[in-house]
Amino acid sequence: MRIENEPKLDFKDVLIRPKRSTLGSRAEVEIERAFRFAHTGREWRGFPMIAANMDVVGTIPMARALARHGALVALHKHYPEDLLVDFFASGEPQHAFYSLGTAEADWEKFRAVKRRAPIGMICLDVANGYTEKFVEMVAQARDENPDAVIMAGNVVTGDMTEALVLAGADIVKVGIGPGSVCTTRKMTGVGYPQLSAVIECADAAHGLKGLVCADGGCTVPGDIAKAYGGGADFVMLGGMLAGHDECEGEIVYDEIDGERGAKSMVFYGMSSDTAMKKYSGGVAHYRASEGKTVEVAYRGPVDDTMQEITGGVRSMMTYIGATRLKEVPKRTTFVMVGAQLNTVFG
Ligand code: 5GP
Repeated sequence: MRIENEPKLDFKDVLIRPKRSTLGSRAEVEIERAFRFAHTGREWRGFPMIAANMDVVGTIPMARALARHGALVALHKHYPEDLLVDFFASGEPQHAFYSLGTAEADWEKFRAVKRRAPIGMICLDVANGYTEKFVEMVAQARDENPDAVIMAGNVVTGDMTEALVLAGADIVKVGIGPGSVCTTRKMTGVGYPQLSAVIECADAAHGLKGLVCADGGCTVPGDIAKAYGGGADFVMLGGMLAGHDECEGEIVYDEIDGERGAKSMVFYGMSSDTAMKKYSGGVAHYRASEGKTVEVAYRGPVDDTMQEITGGVRSMMTYIGATRLKEVPKRTTFVMVGAQLNTVFG
């Protein structure tokens, strides 16, 4: 047994120190980034935020709404083949990743869709990116799709980030256990504080011209700002995008004295009981559920939330004097804090 003594940080453990600058207003900052990917030479430009490939938020309506903000969606993997073909053949696919896991059925459907429509971005997603089998899967995906952008994960350490980039990933997805509806840490004791994971994995990936996507644990726009400050090239969101019109999920109402009250939407982890019952007929005997099911207050169109997110990021940039999003890590100094928010009014 070994103990690491170096402090490891979560978003809540730090704040970003303001810096003097000549920037006048938040309208002067540029929140787009332009990337060239390590393995494909392809270019992408936009606001580097991705809706998670969870079946409530990784939806086609979400892809269309986020495209208006230059952002992306990782479509969830449960859409039927024909719907995916229609979408990817429609000319909108530059804003969406096709997601798949290790299951043979996922791969068969992927190959079938690919025969009928162009797929330019692929998200290879497993809960535990530390297995040899996963590294081989990334290498095989790279062989079969030399021109596609491949995002793969999840991992939380530099060594495994390097292994995935070398195997063929353009973007490594970072995060084990930080998610809003994730119970991995509770069920297994395994995880890594998310901001440190992002800092360490970004450093490893950038050394090989790879990129990272900070996946999970962002609860407010400030957390997204901190992820970019720590070196995240992309940020993936689940919970922050739940509860909107563009989500696909069950709608529930409070009942007060028999009257219909406030509207909420059901949101759940992709390895929760809810998801396993929906897609695989129950929780397999060899695994425990590692996700929870919650109700999120209805929040209207996602455009309003996107405005809050992009507004928060822009404002952070003016506080630290970064004209372009790319300059944010260079201008970020994190200060460790005991408390970051005044909670007197809840
Ligand atoms: P959030 O933005 O909601 O904090 O985190 C979203 C991320 O949580 C997803 O992109 C995914 O990586 C992770 N996630 C989604 N469902 C589950 C689950 O059931 N279990 C675990 N361990 N992680 C999940």
